Amino acid sequence: MPRTRRTGRITLVGGGPGPADLLTLRAAKVLTEADVVYFDRLGPTEDLAALAPRATFVDVGKTPGHHKVSQEDITARMIDGARGGLHVVRLKGGDPFVFGRGGEEMSAAVAAGIPVTVVPGVSSAIAVPGAAGIPVTHRNVSHLFTVVSGHAPLTGKEYRHLAGLGGTIVVLMGIGTLPSLVAGLRMAGLASGTPVAVVERGFSHTQRTTIATLGRIVSASSACRNPAVIVIGDVVDLAQSNGLAVSDFLEDASLQSA
Ligand code: SAH
Repeated sequence: MPRTRRTGRITLVGGGPGPADLLTLRAAKVLTEADVVYFDRLGPTEDLAALAPRATFVDVGKTPGHHKVSQEDITARMIDGARGGLHVVRLKGGDPFVFGRGGEEMSAAVAAGIPVTVVPGVSSAIAVPGAAGIPVTHRNVSHLFTVVSGHAPLTGKEYRHLAGLGGTIVVLMGIGTLPSLVAGLRMAGLASGTPVAVVERGFSHTQRTTIATLGRIVSASSACRNPAVIVIGDVVDLAQSNGLAVSDFLEDASLQSA
């Protein structure tokens, strides 16, 4: 009998917003079976060796504007690994299909004839506001939420639709474009008194929440950095302390110690 080579596969795994105990049970199980794990800086990066004891690790992390490994390169390497018989895990922050390029990796694997499965993850779009005590929906306050990428400025039409929709607006990757987002939403008619929260480094020891009105958030958040989730809408007024220091809920950056 000729020896058949073991078929490799790819699993796209959502790693959640950072702490390892926010991985799903399925994500943790898949990691124990991984031969190689491609990871980046969001999602769980500590204790990876304990979570995936059999695996070798490849850091493909990107900081904004600073691509370490190109997306094409990541995909090509994963496909090569799977062709070689390995179980390749692509571990991503949050959910793989929320601004995570998971769809591209899935399509590339399918086109290459590699079996691919997806394990969903806890997305920062919902979890990080929650960590600051902000529910993205709330009875009689907001019955919808829209998740927007701040990677590039929106068009005038998009601002008008967003402002007209009501409900909660959640922005990821939005620190760099916050001034244009605020200007666009105000031009489109969103009230300047609308509350806004910027939640930085959710679930870390240095998590910080800055709250101000739409009219004042740009100056109030001048010290804020990615990763951060921006929440716009009346649900921000529901922010609860959740055991965080009261200083996490300052209304005005001028009161904030650096
Ligand atoms: N797939 C991810 C999002 C990837 S885009 C998900 O579902 O969560 C990366 C953006 O996610 C960051 O710029 C930031 O806006 C947000 N983000 C991810 N983890 C975060 C965290 N722990 N705290 C604050 N923002 C976070």
